[in-house]
Amino acid sequence: MADIIRLLPDHVANQIAAGEVVQRPSSVVKELMENAIDAGATEIQLIIKDGGKTLIQVVDNGKGMSGTDARLSFERHATSKIQKAEDLFNLHTKGFRGEALASIAAIAHVEMLTKTEDDDIGTKIKIEGSKIVTQEVVVAPKGTSMLVKNLFFNIPARRNFLKSDQVEYRHIADEFHRISLAHPQVAFNFYNNGSDVFQLPANDFRKRIVHIFGRKTDEKLVPVEEETQVVKISGYIQKPEFAKKSRGEQFFFANNRFIKSPYLHHAILGAFEGVIRPGTHPGYFLNLEVDPATIDINIHPTKTEVKFDDEHTLYAMLKSTVKHSLGQFNVVPALDFEQ
Ligand code: ADP
Ligand code: MG
Repeated sequence: MADIIRLLPDHVANQIAAGEVVQRPSSVVKELMENAIDAGATEIQLIIKDGGKTLIQVVDNGKGMSGTDARLSFERHATSKIQKAEDLFNLHTKGFRGEALASIAAIAHVEMLTKTEDDDIGTKIKIEGSKIVTQEVVVAPKGTSMLVKNLFFNIPARRNFLKSDQVEYRHIADEFHRISLAHPQVAFNFYNNGSDVFQLPANDFRKRIVHIFGRKTDEKLVPVEEETQVVKISGYIQKPEFAKKSRGEQFFFANNRFIKSPYLHHAILGAFEGVIRPGTHPGYFLNLEVDPATIDINIHPTKTEVKFDDEHTLYAMLKSTVKHSLGQFNVVPALDFEQ
């Protein structure tokens, strides 16, 4: 029989990878905002239209790219963030897979405008379905603007699968909350369909939380602070009386990255046991700082699920620290569940 195995062309491989990286418009928002953070931006603008389906733009004042780098950034596995396998165990950036821009460019119309501090002139690249359409030298401010239009234009099945503009907007807003909470020292602006949703100046963590969730949140917050050799825990829990049936204001950040952890959520529930009604969930905004060598972020392309080396210790520490804060601030009300 004749040989039948072939290497897939790059644009096909990119489209397959895009299926993992880009599930919906909010995935693009996440990747672009994380790139802006990694570029050292102190100001990031997010502009979207129609739930991100027609337009997503992220503008940053970060370090920008040279013309050659700008072009290379759209290649798969092209990254400035890691060089060797060992680097995976010492990550200080959000990105490292070098997949996002290649994936996005495979399934959307993309325009990048970028300039470094040292260059006098910037670069503009248009790329559609993995094909570079134009590359020009242009006048540009320092930093990068990424414009992503018509997501999934070439994959009708994926485009049709998208939810209403409102639902997609909610996902984007969630992503915006996560990233802006993880980086309170960065200023963020968010515009939706031409109207101003958030103007967040650079701030401390508490003020950032209050900016996003409203002034009433301030009085709900109880500080949490603990440092051991394994982890530094900091942030806020909400007082037990504000626990809700619905989930929503639960945030864990591991080394400035939003993570999902049902396991650690359980530790918090344990700490609140007896002071909240069963079936309700307390709000929390907690930062866990661990040695990058003790956390594995590379278990899924979207990197929201991570693996800690010593989960059990972390669980126990989180539970006792939160319990301690509840006790210390004397916020444990006498609840009578019998009534
Ligand atoms: P990763 O972030 O995993 O490295 P990406 O595909 O997201 O992969 O980006 C590829 C490369 O393009 C990055 O490593 C970085 O060097 C460059 N890049 C992307 N976005 C920006 C940006 N906003 N500012 C400066 N450089 C960027
Ligand atoms: Mg990236």
